[in-house]
Amino acid sequence: MILIVAEHANGSLSKSAYELVTAARGLQREGGVTALVLGSGVVSVAGAAALVADQVLVADTPEMAQYDAEIWAAAVAQIATEGEAEVVMIAGSRSGREYSPRVAVKLDAPLLEDVISLKDEGGVLHAEHYTYLTRVTERVEAQGAVIVATVKPGAFAAAVPGSSVAEQFDVDLELPKRRLVITGSTKEKTGRIALGEADIVVAGGRGVGSAEGFTQLVEGLADPLGAAIGATRAVVDAGWRPYAEQVGQTGKTVQPKAYIAVGISGAVQHLSGMNKSKCIVAINKDADAPIFKIADYGIVGDVKEIVPAVIQALRK
Ligand SMILES: Cc1cc2nc3c(=O)[nH]c(=O)nc-3n(C[C@H](O)[C@H](O)[C@H](O)COP(=O)(O)OP(=O)(O)OC[C@H]3O[C@@H](n4cnc5c(N)ncnc54)[C@H](O)[C@@H]3O)c2cc1C
Repeated sequence: MILIVAEHANGSLSKSAYELVTAARGLQREGGVTALVLGSGVVSVAGAAALVADQVLVADTPEMAQYDAEIWAAAVAQIATEGEAEVVMIAGSRSGREYSPRVAVKLDAPLLEDVISLKDEGGVLHAEHYTYLTRVTERVEAQGAVIVATVKPGAFAAAVPGSSVAEQFDVDLELPKRRLVITGSTKEKTGRIALGEADIVVAGGRGVGSAEGFTQLVEGLADPLGAAIGATRAVVDAGWRPYAEQVGQTGKTVQPKAYIAVGISGAVQHLSGMNKSKCIVAINKDADAPIFKIADYGIVGDVKEIVPAVIQALRK
């Protein structure tokens, strides 16, 4: 059995959970894909998981209302042991990267980290991941009665929900006492969809000219489209945008339905983070810019003229 830990936020299953299903199905193991939903008040999340997985295990308890690495690791290790999971797959999110090594230690299992590909050859898992600040793609293999793998967000396509509904089972957990309590948090309210979750991403490069240009052109285009914002490293290094928005080898990997590149040259390090997007639209004044080689639609021209015209048309 392959156990995937289905992440969720604000009552919705995260995109990473759908990507884990695709990665898990690629292994074609007997017993199918079992999704584990951890949290409090997660009925709707479990329902969504049931449309993509073959079986859903639900631990719906107030003790899991707040994420905690020790508690998550204990829960996942317990369920993996009881269900005799052969592979445990966890999203390579901030929390996933935090608790997955603890799960591997508890299960005495090898850990494949942040994989971008995964194949099963006679029980041995072959994976690829980036290393040396993403300059090198390393091939690794792991074998054992149980293997833990974290999956890089955006590296696999999201599974499409089907019409059949998997059975759901409640599970009882023996959890350790919580030793760490979050006493408060302040959240910046952008009101914007997260980069990894968005169907449309509008990304800006140095071609927008300045931080103000970025706000006017990239945010201005993203708002009417309900899109997330992405940026190149050049823009982040210039201090125009936060690192959280960087797309590429040393930033986030995204795979939206539409990726609109505004004033981006298309360096390989940027392309590796977005080249799996379903439809790529590029706006650049240089007809020879490499971004046009992978774009489905290209507009050659000045972003300061084209983007405001598109925004105006969208507003109408
Ligand atoms: C180890 C390593 C890791 C890296 N990781 C990343 C990464 O994760 N993500 C990333 O993005 N980069 C990364 N880079 C940097 C990458 O190599 C490029 O330098 C960067 O992507 C370039 O950003 P850019 O396209 O915004 O800028 P530029 O390459 O300067 O391109 C700007 C583009 O805007 C166009 N332009 C200018 N003015 C206008 C205008 N008025 N109208 C229309 N078009 C205009 C230009 O023709 C040009 O094509 C990495 C580099 C290294 C060495």
